[in-house]
Amino acid sequence: MHRCLAAAAALAVLIAGPESPAQTIYPIDRADILAGARFDFKVEFSGLADPAKISVSVNGEDYANAFGKSADFIEREDGKDQSALILRDVSLTQPGNYKIHVTDGVQSREINWNVYATEARKAKNVILFIGDGMSPAHRIAARLLAKGIAEGKALGKLAIDDTPHVALVATAGSDSIITDSANSASAYATGHKSAVNAMGVYADRTLDPLDDPKVETITSLVKRRLGMAVGIVTNTEIEDATPAAMVAHVRRRSEYDRIVEQYFAAKPDVLMGGGRANFLPKGADGAKRKDEADFLARFREAGYYIALTGPEMAAAAADPATRNLLGLFALGNMDGVLDRKFLKGGTVRKFPEQPDLTEQVNAALAVLSRNEAGFFLMVESGMIDKYTHLLDMERAVYDTIMLDNAVALARDWARARGDDTLILVLADHNHPIGLVGTIDDDMSKEARPAMRERVRVYERAGFPNYGTPNSEGYPSRVDVSRRLALFSASLPDHYETYRPKLDNPNDPTVAGKEPDTYVANDRYKSVPGAVFRFGNLPAMINADVHSGEDVILTATGPGSEAVHGQMDNTEVFRVMAEALGLGAQHGTDACRTQVFPAKP
Ligand SMILES: [Zn+2]
Repeated sequence: MHRCLAAAAALAVLIAGPESPAQTIYPIDRADILAGARFDFKVEFSGLADPAKISVSVNGEDYANAFGKSADFIEREDGKDQSALILRDVSLTQPGNYKIHVTDGVQSREINWNVYATEARKAKNVILFIGDGMSPAHRIAARLLAKGIAEGKALGKLAIDDTPHVALVATAGSDSIITDSANSASAYATGHKSAVNAMGVYADRTLDPLDDPKVETITSLVKRRLGMAVGIVTNTEIEDATPAAMVAHVRRRSEYDRIVEQYFAAKPDVLMGGGRANFLPKGADGAKRKDEADFLARFREAGYYIALTGPEMAAAAADPATRNLLGLFALGNMDGVLDRKFLKGGTVRKFPEQPDLTEQVNAALAVLSRNEAGFFLMVESGMIDKYTHLLDMERAVYDTIMLDNAVALARDWARARGDDTLILVLADHNHPIGLVGTIDDDMSKEARPAMRERVRVYERAGFPNYGTPNSEGYPSRVDVSRRLALFSASLPDHYETYRPKLDNPNDPTVAGKEPDTYVANDRYKSVPGAVFRFGNLPAMINADVHSGEDVILTATGPGSEAVHGQMDNTEVFRVMAEALGLGAQHGTDACRTQVFPAKP
């Protein structure tokens, strides 16, 4: 069956030739669509189409009947010789296979969608933890530092690892084998593939970043269908791709002002992270908005408690009247835990009262659990990715431990309630980071070898000597004499110092003389033992890059048994939709009145 379709598609390409491909249809072929979830339907014709000759059918029925309304015909999209049909905000309620057939009288195309319903609701709440860019090497390093190891056996398990269900999750987007945080988070949030830089939409061919065909997010679905609360918590800018993808519909993730506007329209009950700059009106201290809109004032007027520091957040959460909380603890990204708790680098001196991710999660759980209908909460440890891009492995590993602490407290919270909460932990993509051994400074006592010669591998690697971690799992120092050797396989030109950066996060490259090129930052040239490392990436790339391997998903709680084997990133949405009964065919009232274990 599929082979026949593939052959037909190949034939269509042969007939049409490479210059004039058949129509592009959104949602794309083989999309899995939750019954009742909203989406925009779009057909892009490769040239000018005659509306009188266009025919679009859904399972043999005219599309306007199937969807209950007609599409807009755009004769010349972006003023070019290209026509399109677009039909906003439709849904399909009956599960099954759908064949979408499109013809303009010359060219035809047929694609398939799978519309699925769900069983009744199993989980009261869902918490989705995302370690941005968290790769296997980050997890292993976090386990070594936080739990320790003796004679080859770990002295404990991380909370992110100690779960009954695990899967490998493929991360490719609709445009590339390599994903970014926008389309990967969008796949989790919507169940649909998207393209690099895009979220909540299929990336169409028009220039406008706000007109692309939308797909509904889980935050919209849980509010609309079940009256649940929504929380979005990160330590990056709140406008950054992972948190924004929970709500936003935008082709370009850099549209921060628009994303703030979309947050305000969506009104998540709890919204916390950095990124205050794009909430402030142009001209205000630290503002990055390009207009005069004051979104702190707007959120306040809409009934939100505004917290700009950790203590303000804790006070707001402790007030039983608080149902809506906006916490913006830095103008840009918040600082990672290594700077906040130990080194005081980054922007810690400027924003000394930033909360820890665990404190943010505690506050979010307190506020969100006041909604009797349950909640969806996304928590991101987002700086793992940023630090890894900068080849700053110590900071990335400490933020992995912080994620683990946040997961541990959420699991304790859920356990105390009788485990009514599905908890998922995964990365959105990997980095090509490898743990290759240790770096051994003590060797210098013997032969004072070059730093490179101090990289110990195989049996010489032995075990690191970070010492006993504190109660949160953090060793008190990272500049120990036998430390982990974590290297990226994707490199810009830079100086490798083989040492942790104790002042500020690593800054491996600076702009080069040629436009759009980067060169090694000379700042590290004179660090004793530093070596120049030729990059293996194009000169336009200023950092380590993402890699395309599957990520690890671990899960616990009701509905987590659906997590197993090898999955696609769009299926993560389905696991959550099934757990919440978001596509249940009994009607939303049945879902709403479902009884859950009472709070202790
Ligand atoms: Zn990244």
